Order: sequence, then C-alpha cells, then structure tokens
Amino acid sequence: MSNEIEREILEAVQKRRNFAIISHPDAGKTTLTEKLLLYGGAIHQAGAVKARRDQRKATSDWMEMEKQRGISITSTVLQFAYRNFQINLLDTPGHQDFSEDTYRTLAAADNAVMLIDAAKGLEPQTRKLFEVCRLRGLPIFTFVNKMDRPGREPLELLDEIEQELGLKTYAVNWPIGMGDLFKGVYSRRQKAIHLFERRSHGSQQAQEDVIKLGDPKIEEYLEQELYYQFKEDLEILEELGDDLDLDQVHAGKMTPIFFGSAMTNFGVQLFLEAFLEYALKPEGRNSSVGVLDPTHPEFTGFVFKLQANMDPKHRDRVAFVRVCTGKFEKDMTVSHARTGKTVRLSRPQKLFAQDRASIEEAYGGDVIGLNNPGVFAIGDTIYSGKKLEYEGIPCFSPEMFSYIKNPNPSKFKQFQKGIKELREEGAIQIMYSTDEFRRDPILAAVGQLQFEVVQFRLLSEYGVETNLEPLPYSLARWVKGGWKALEKAGRIFNTIIVKDNWGRPVLLFKNQWGLQQVNSDNPDLKLDVIAPVGA
Ligand code: GDP
Repeated sequence: MSNEIEREILEAVQKRRNFAIISHPDAGKTTLTEKLLLYGGAIHQAGAVKARRDQRKATSDWMEMEKQRGISITSTVLQFAYRNFQINLLDTPGHQDFSEDTYRTLAAADNAVMLIDAAKGLEPQTRKLFEVCRLRGLPIFTFVNKMDRPGREPLELLDEIEQELGLKTYAVNWPIGMGDLFKGVYSRRQKAIHLFERRSHGSQQAQEDVIKLGDPKIEEYLEQELYYQFKEDLEILEELGDDLDLDQVHAGKMTPIFFGSAMTNFGVQLFLEAFLEYALKPEGRNSSVGVLDPTHPEFTGFVFKLQANMDPKHRDRVAFVRVCTGKFEKDMTVSHARTGKTVRLSRPQKLFAQDRASIEEAYGGDVIGLNNPGVFAIGDTIYSGKKLEYEGIPCFSPEMFSYIKNPNPSKFKQFQKGIKELREEGAIQIMYSTDEFRRDPILAAVGQLQFEVVQFRLLSEYGVETNLEPLPYSLARWVKGGWKALEKAGRIFNTIIVKDNWGRPVLLFKNQWGLQQVNSDNPDLKLDVIAPVGA
C-alpha cells in the first residue's frame, strides 16, 4: 500500500464526523435535520427531508406507498459537507416505523444528538434510544429545541438529564428568556450573546447579531429583569456546574447542552460548530484480530441494516454497511466473513431520501448501500486482506409479542421457510413457547410495523396468509447463565419463560413492575436487556 493512499485515508477519516439524532416524535428531528443540511449548502435537499415527512404523514398506508413508489422510503444516511468536515447523519426511523432498525442504526453511529422539546423534557422514545446509546458508550450531545415557545426552566431540564439519565451536563450555550420573551442564547465559548430575531429563516441561513458580554448595548436589547435572571443562571452554572471535560463527553458520561429553535433556525449553527469540534471522529473498533483503527489500510465494514423492497416485482434488498477501515472503491472484490465467499460490490449506493446516488469511494465513518441478492445478514463483516470479523450487533429487548399462526397445513413448508428467512434477515426476532405442544412461533418486535411487514412479506413473497394472536407482554430479558441459572433460581413469579431462536431462556414481563418484582425476589438471577451475540 503506497504512502499516498495511506495519507488519503488518514485525511478522509480526520474530516469525518458521524452521528444519529435520537428523539421522541414531534421534538423537531425533521426540522433540525433540514436546517443542518442548509448549513451544508444542501438547500434543495433540505426541502426533500420535509417532503418525505409530509408524504409519510399524509398516508397511513405505508405498504401501499412502498408498492407504488417501487422503492423503499426510508432514507438511511444523509451526507453533507460543512467547512472542512464531511458529515454523515444516520437516520433513525421513528414514528410509526420505529423498529429494531432504529436500534441497529445506533450501532453504526459514532455520536448521538439527543433532541429534546423544551416544554416536554425527556420523553419515552428518547429514553429508550438513550439506553441503547449508553450500552454502546456513545457520546451524547443535547439540543433543547423550541425555545421560541414557552417551556420548562432550563436549569430544571439540566437537572432532569442528570438525575434520570445519570449524565453530567455542560451547557455550551444558555438561553435568555423563552417563549415570547426569548431573546437569544449566550455562548460560553465566545462569551457573547447571539440575539434572536423573531422571523422565520425558513430557507436561509440565519445571520445573527452578536454582542459581547461587557458591551453596554446589552441593556438596549434585554430588559433588566431578564438580564439579571441570566446573570444569576450564569453564576449558578459557573459555580456549581462541572467544567467541560471532553474525555467524559467521549466516554458518554457528560453531555454538552445547546439551546435553540430549529424552526426559526436559531442556535443551529452555534450547535453545529461546537458539535463538530467536540464530536468523536471515527474510532477503532473491536474485531476478532483486535482493535482496528479506521486508518488501517485494508477495507473492512459490517452490515447494520437490511432493507427489503416491498414491491414483489423488484425484490431487491439493500444491505447498509458501515465502513470501518481503509478505502472502499466501486467494483471492489471483498470477502464475506460468515460464508467465506468472495463478493463483488458492484452497485454501491449512497441513499438520500428517495434518490439513490451511486458512489465511487468511501472511508471509515461512511455508510454505503449495497445491492444484496440474499448474501448479507445483520452483523456480517466484509473485508479485504486478512480474515477478520467484527463483533455482531446485539438484539435488544423486544416490546411486543404475538403468536403467528399459519391456518393452512398445506403451506407449512413455505411458512417455516419464510419465518426462518425473515428472522435471518433481521426483520423480526422469533421466540418459542416452552410448552412443546405450542409450536407457533412468537414474533417479538420493538415496533408494530415489524409485525405488519412480516405478515405482508409472508403473503407476498411466500404465499402464506397468517393470523396474529397478540401476547400481553412488553419486556423481555435474557437470563445470564442460561437454563442452569434459571433452575437454580427455582420458581419465579410474575413472568413467563420462553426460548429464543437458539433455545436460550428469555423471561417476558407484562410491565416494569413485574420485572422489578422478579429482580427483588431473585437477587441472584442476572437478567440482560440484550441477547448474547451469536448463537
Ligand atoms: P419530528 O417528528 O421530530 O421529525 O418533528 P418535526 O420536525 O416534524 O416537528 C414537529 C412540529 O414541531 C412541527 O410542526 C414543527 O414545525 C414544529 N417545530 C420544530 N421545531 C420547532 C421550533 O424550534 N419551534 C417551534 N415553535 N416549533 C417547532
């Protein structure tokens, strides 16, 4: 490998920053994404994000949409440039298409931006996604949105994050007033106030007026009361708050916090600039041959998401690969660790909304979409050079469970095949009752959409009509130490025991209360929210 290529890879990796936004529906993810793209000079793309959302919201019949469009509507990565950075924003499916893919996307992300509605604080979907980020040790950056509307006290929001998520906080900027009285934010980096102008910057980059802290003009802009309140808050932050510690940020223990209003495009650029400076660049990943730095000269990557086309006439699949090391080039030939086969990566795609753009090259931190004629499964490693494998992507606790039944005995084989293939592809988790007379598979999902997709695909691809029989559980935990540990624990109440696809015991609970009961009744029983990787 020539020095020139090594230098090229090093430069590319240093420029790259990759992140996903975690939020609850309606916090403003689409709006923020759009505004971030604006700063990347991708104004035409900014409109596309909104168009996609409106389209999605406008129709409840998601399958019908997939069919009509003939392609998949879920975008996966938005790549844009800002200053000297190349940014990859990984889209985390939310709303009605919340699924295991949402969690898996976080396995391909290096940083997470936690977007919070100032009036609502932490909400359920954000908490769930945060837990996954915590398991991965991802750095979390917090953007408190909708400051132009009445919201909760900023100090109270910081406190909520510290108390409930166990994260230290560092406010990088601080709001002055809120709602009708929102005057702007104070940048602690610049020691200056950015004044908020109450007009929509819909499609333009905001030009902000800035005044330095000691400037007497401040009083012209801020009423006395607001100014004193702001000085008081600032004193509290400086005296009682922690200092910014990037090591802790990178370890996922401290979150830098930003305030703004995505809709009016206020505070977005301040956020972006600080984020790019503080965010983790693509880092080494653990593999079967040890930690591989992204500058490792050979190309390697892993599949984190598979997307099936819902149109039976175009049954292509796209496998999304997180590039980990080296340089990806169109038409390159790589090895596939699980099967030992050689694969030519001939039609790489970069997906932006509905436009599939073909790409020529990619580096550590990028995501590529590969046409997947059934070769890839979630977690698969591809590599050039010496054999290696990345750690797989774990299964997270499903929250919805349902028996799936095939009422037609003559379709038995197709049904079995369909269930097996859809499971292998990662569309759904499959569990079984411990009652040997109950052979129907249990579908286990994190979102309702996954059930619909499975039924739809069993019918359209395997010709099997199925019925669901929902089960009243909402949590699953894997038992550390397997059946032996379970036997030792003796009789357990408030749960049922099922087997996962590999025959390992899983406890299902109706609610958090049931789980807490089992934990307190059986202190020696260790339960895990993620399945052990691999069979
Ligand atoms: P998503 O569901 O998280 O993608 O949220 P959207 O971006 O679709 O935003 C949800 C709603 O909140 C929309 O009506 C937005 O116009 C609105 N919204 C987003 N950001 C702001 C903001 O900063 N201020 C106000 N007042 N509304 C906002």
